[in-house]
Amino acid sequence: MSKKVKLDKDLCISCGVCNAVCPSLFDWDDDGKVKPLMEEVPADLADAAEEAEASCPTGAISLE
Ligand code: SF4
Repeated sequence: MSKKVKLDKDLCISCGVCNAVCPSLFDWDDDGKVKPLMEEVPADLADAAEEAEASCPTGAISLE
């Protein structure tokens, strides 16, 4: 089953790790923080999404 990606912008410090790990899923928003490009994580991005979640230094990303 596909997971949904949630991003807490209040926790994002704009480090760019998630964008580097999985640019198809995380892109920069106009406010200088990151936004998910889609709500549901496609199967082919599942591993990269999990790596991004684990790599985020502030825990801003969660997969549910
Ligand atoms: S890895 Fe976390 S803190 Fe860094 S840009 Fe992505 S969401 Fe923001």
